[in-house]
Amino acid sequence: MLDKVSGPQTTNPNRVVARSPPPNAVLEETLAVCFICKKRLRRSRTANAGDYTKEDVFPRWLVETFELQDAVIDFPDGKSARYGDILVPCCQPCNNDYMSPVEERISKAVKAPDQYPEFIKLSRSDMALWAIKIIYGILFHRIAPWNFNKHRPRPTGISDQVLDQFRFSQKLLDGFRKRVLLSGTDFPLSILVLPIKPGATGELAFDYKDYIEWPTAIAIRMGTVGFIAIFEDFSVVNEWFKTERAALIEGKQLHPLQFMEIAARAFEVAGLGSHKVRCTVMESPRDVHLFLRIAVNAPRDPDPKRLHEKIAYMTGDESFTDKKPGASYLTEADGSFREMRWPPLIE
Ligand SMILES: [Zn+2]
Repeated sequence: MLDKVSGPQTTNPNRVVARSPPPNAVLEETLAVCFICKKRLRRSRTANAGDYTKEDVFPRWLVETFELQDAVIDFPDGKSARYGDILVPCCQPCNNDYMSPVEERISKAVKAPDQYPEFIKLSRSDMALWAIKIIYGILFHRIAPWNFNKHRPRPTGISDQVLDQFRFSQKLLDGFRKRVLLSGTDFPLSILVLPIKPGATGELAFDYKDYIEWPTAIAIRMGTVGFIAIFEDFSVVNEWFKTERAALIEGKQLHPLQFMEIAARAFEVAGLGSHKVRCTVMESPRDVHLFLRIAVNAPRDPDPKRLHEKIAYMTGDESFTDKKPGASYLTEADGSFREMRWPPLIE
């Protein structure tokens, strides 16, 4: 099986020429490395010289669309940060030449008045790259925080051990710069795109949650689209969703709590399994070919308490931890889909 994860399919690598710095520009080595290509960055006081740029992990268009200027993201360890303050060092070509085309396609879908029908038209590769960029950007920002005012590293926030279960996804980041060819396995990520009830605007129309224990995963709600990405589960959740949940919500629009419950259940399902990934890399200027061999580890047992803790965390409804097994926002007592009102009525 051959699969592609590739941002700039149409980009000719020769198009991206190293910009020659203006004559007399003084370039200064920094300790910052590009979070995508890992190149050491050089800055300059001269305009258009050097390659030191900052990348907004949550892009500015997203912050503006959902009025997140003052909104904060809470990290599982109790720390928090404003969305717009999560910045990582990035080289000029990765930022402007490679990531921009993917970012543009995503932003066009998310800025549409009705996001879901536009978002489902995006390629799986674009969705995967965008999701990996966000979660890897957050992890990079926490592991190796960078002070953009003083141009030097800040003290480390969390251990880089969290990257151990994310090594393979990091290789997929090359998809921004090159064509990534995968062989020998299912698609490495599970991606679910779900319709959300319309009517909310601004911050009420947005939600973001991630999970960095096994498995690494994110869920983002943006207007009428709910987007779930689970990294390195090798499509286990996509299969689970098809057999266990798709029929229930067919043709329905979800309340945000229902969306986050599905995300929590998906994270739990992915967490029951794990894989050992062996990866051989062959690289040319244009392509990265990854040959994967996957060994499936023995599954963990389902744990209703752990599942309810996940649902409580994802929905923000702490009372869920104490609910009876089988409790769900998704179903009525007879097992049919439960309709919930959204957005809340404002008196
Ligand atoms: Zn770079």
